[in-house]
Amino acid sequence: MSISFSEDQEHAQITTAAVLPEDNSEGSLRPRTLQEYIGQEKAKDNLKIFINAAKMRNESLDHVLLHGPPGLGKTTLAAVIAHEMNVNMRITSGPAIEKPGDLVALLTNLSEGDILFVDEIHRLNRAYEEILYPAMEDFAIDIILGKGPSANSIHLDLPRFTLIGATTRSGQLTAPLRDRFGVTLRLELYTPEELQRIVERSAQILHVGIVPEGSYEIASRSRGTPRVANRLLRRVRDYAQVRADGIITKEVADAALLSMEVDRCGLDAIDRRMLQSIIDFYGGGPVGLDTLAATINEDAVTLEDVYEPYLLQNGFLTRTPRGRCVTRKSYEHLGLLFTGQEQLEF
Ligand code: ADP
Repeated sequence: MSISFSEDQEHAQITTAAVLPEDNSEGSLRPRTLQEYIGQEKAKDNLKIFINAAKMRNESLDHVLLHGPPGLGKTTLAAVIAHEMNVNMRITSGPAIEKPGDLVALLTNLSEGDILFVDEIHRLNRAYEEILYPAMEDFAIDIILGKGPSANSIHLDLPRFTLIGATTRSGQLTAPLRDRFGVTLRLELYTPEELQRIVERSAQILHVGIVPEGSYEIASRSRGTPRVANRLLRRVRDYAQVRADGIITKEVADAALLSMEVDRCGLDAIDRRMLQSIIDFYGGGPVGLDTLAATINEDAVTLEDVYEPYLLQNGFLTRTPRGRCVTRKSYEHLGLLFTGQEQLEF
């Protein structure tokens, strides 16, 4: 069985929450203070308490673990915390730490109160994690120099720093590492209204003319993800400049998004291909994630981290112990007849 989907590959990328080269100007759109950081009220309320308490005690903030799908603002929130605590932040990521020395160098170069942000912390080599345990708990590390009988152990005290870990998969973190975070915050997909505020804020920074109906149209088709909302705003702006008079109205946004194959529910070509394949080849499901990924020629991790959260939250897909199933809503969305037979096994 061979299926070719390559013609919509370019469009399919537009709503991915992963970072694309065109997002490199994201920096200018990042909110800097908690007040500017839109949405995630629960996480912000918790953070405000921890930040104020740490400031009152004149201590560094407890270690924080941020988890949630990509593009929801974990890196942004870490920078906001650094700003609110008035400290510096150093940024690295799990896969970037290639040898224990990299981690030791990062830790020993920190100053009192600094934040060390480790993105994708679940991808940190397990063997190096053990360096983090005493560093996080006792603010000290033991380094072994040399090998065999002549090996020497040196004890190094570290400044009191805050580790902020970000992960799309907290389940993959080892229990000892997870337990060393004093604060765990889960970021949720944003509501269209919150995303609308983000789009309007970004439009103002980018000097883009937009009416409220236009910003809502973009927001409601951005898969609950600020990174996608900002990207769609830029793309729609280009469309508005070339095809309309530069102002983003509901009609302009709708036409631009449809031309990019982002449909009215915010699903893109990959979402639809995923749902359609479950229906066409697996009778609506259940189908295991790896099988599905192979069928549509996508990476299983990307499907799980980037595509599924939105489809699950919006009732297009359900997850069962035996695999993924589409729902009646998916059939209706794709204009197919739902007989109910497909899911009788459940
Ligand atoms: P993550 O680290 O979770 O992948 P980022 O922090 O890089 O996500 O956020 C992606 C982009 O989305 C940022 O550049 C920022 O402009 C925007 N963004 C994220 N969260 C918010 C928010 N709460 N308010 C406004 N903009 C946001």
